[in-house]
Amino acid sequence: MRVADILKRKGTLVATVPPNARVSDAVTTLHERGIGAVVVSDDGATIDGILSERDIVRALHRTGADVLDHAIAGIMTSNVVTCAAEDRVDAMMSLMTENRIRHLPVAADGQLVGIISIGDVVASRVTELENETRAMEEYIQHGR
Ligand code: AMP
Repeated sequence: MRVADILKRKGTLVATVPPNARVSDAVTTLHERGIGAVVVSDDGATIDGILSERDIVRALHRTGADVLDHAIAGIMTSNVVTCAAEDRVDAMMSLMTENRIRHLPVAADGQLVGIISIGDVVASRVTELENETRAMEEYIQHGR
């Protein structure tokens, strides 16, 4: 299974916020869309950073509630790990585990073309393993 197969099912729409928006705006986006991270982008296509709920909790602990009025750029992660549509999903699972991240924006020619979360990756692996098990059972029972 490839990243493109996940995007085919979930779509390519990605929530973005500009780096100069306030942290409270990102909180609103995360809440309204029911997501855990948002890509930071000025033009909606170039990836400037990523902001997850974990960054916001960390900033609230360090700085206090005032941080909600600060610019997102101050607390986002700028060095974003991305993947490509043709990457294999099992390799992305390892990439997420190694980097301790739960979100991977999908890029093509430096432009944002989708995002996958650890939930998407786990769901696709479970489906894949179920299909393999079914094929194996079929083979054992009927020799085909
Ligand atoms: P998450 O597990 O996605 O909630 O994010 C945990 C931490 O990793 C936060 O500091 C995020 O900003 C950062 N992070 C999340 N996704 C990525 C990514 N694809 N590349 C780099 N950092 C990330």
